[in-house]
Amino acid sequence: MIRRSRKAIIIGGGIAGPATAMFLRSAGFESQIFEARPRAAGIGGGLQIAPNGMHVLDELGLADEMVRIGSVAESMLFTNQSGRFLGSINRDMRERFGQPAVNVARAALSDAILAQVRWAGIEVSFGKRLVRIEDLPDRPIAAHFDDGTMAEGDLLIGADGVHSSVRAHVNPGGPVPFDTGLVGFGGFIPRSVLEKAGVGPHVMMTLGQRGSFGYGYCSSTEDNGAMWWDTQSSGGMDASAFRAMSQEQLKQHIRAFHAGWHDPIPQIIDHARDIIVTDTLDIATLPQWSRGRVVLIGDAAHATTPHAGQGASIALEDALRLSRLLRRGEEFGVTFAKFEAERRPRAERIVAAARRNGGSKGDMSRAGALMRDIAIKLLLPVFARGQDWMYQYNPRVR
Ligand SMILES: Cc1cc2nc3c(=O)[nH]c(=O)nc-3n(C[C@H](O)[C@H](O)[C@H](O)COP(=O)(O)OP(=O)(O)OC[C@H]3O[C@@H](n4cnc5c(N)ncnc54)[C@H](O)[C@@H]3O)c2cc1C
Repeated sequence: MIRRSRKAIIIGGGIAGPATAMFLRSAGFESQIFEARPRAAGIGGGLQIAPNGMHVLDELGLADEMVRIGSVAESMLFTNQSGRFLGSINRDMRERFGQPAVNVARAALSDAILAQVRWAGIEVSFGKRLVRIEDLPDRPIAAHFDDGTMAEGDLLIGADGVHSSVRAHVNPGGPVPFDTGLVGFGGFIPRSVLEKAGVGPHVMMTLGQRGSFGYGYCSSTEDNGAMWWDTQSSGGMDASAFRAMSQEQLKQHIRAFHAGWHDPIPQIIDHARDIIVTDTLDIATLPQWSRGRVVLIGDAAHATTPHAGQGASIALEDALRLSRLLRRGEEFGVTFAKFEAERRPRAERIVAAARRNGGSKGDMSRAGALMRDIAIKLLLPVFARGQDWMYQYNPRVR
């Protein structure tokens, strides 16, 4: 008997959605991706793909391309705001975990996966914002979009990110994202700004008395070849109020906030353009990740604050693990339960680690910052070893 191929409706064309569509091909599913954004143009600042995420990209045949278009981070170096070296973590990732950590523009990562999707002939529809899901017995599952159109399939995968609409279908009245009181600024600058300052191939993280500032290379091209990000207390101001500011006003704000911080932070701020403002959101643990024929993955299931640098990597892990489980051909309910049982402990451990890391980026007294610096100097080697479980995970060999 020839079994008809089943169809997955994937909501969200960011990172997890397109990766899942690629993996589902070998699980006997055809997929259709629906993305709210009007077109494919990538968005966002720079991010780091950790070795665990790189294993997934390797499975997609994209690891070498990431190394080519991004920049391998040899380690992460910590300093305080006067430039005093505090310690380093994440050394020799490739040797220890089988893949390096790679800095790349989020848009470049997303574009690379979407290019594969298109090449594989998987349909991606832009300008399709999901507004409602209908999951009725003996009927295909139906997704309704804000333009009045709908699509039907055998299952629906919610890969629609931190502001997920699918999440509310799975957990009606459930948790919603909340602001952590920190606001993020970031963007790209020419590589030469860091090269002139003698910055090596590392992620540089400066922890101040108030806030933090990070930077590193993210591409071999001169223009936009380095990324920076700045996390600071929002002072009760909504991120949308910052977004309403002009670029020059934003620059002035960031400059004033980091006045007196070590080089090349002033030079980075001077060269900043197209500054991106991000809310730093968190969300409480969801009661469940699936309902009926609907399952959540990536940020929709377990959005994390950015302080562990793992959001994209664990979204990629979800894509691979869900597809592998679906390949077994069990009932969707059984598969989704196994997926959640396998993935939830790891995702929640990472979310908790990110929350702890974020604690060192809020406002502190002078004495508190001094104590923090001493603690980092003494404890960073122990902390570094304690992070290995995050990177050691290889979703291909479960
Ligand atoms: C400042 C910052 C720094 C970060 N740094 C890192 C880092 O260094 N390393 C790392 O691994 N991660 C990092 N992340 C996190 C990372 O970007 C996310 O975890 C990752 O993109 C999650 O992938 P996703 O596919 O689940 O969601 P997304 O990439 O957010 O994709 C979701 C998609 O769904 C679409 N969508 C939303 N609602 C609907 C709807 N109703 N209908 C249809 N489509 C919809 C959205 O437009 C979006 O394209 C960072 C995040 C931030 C904010």
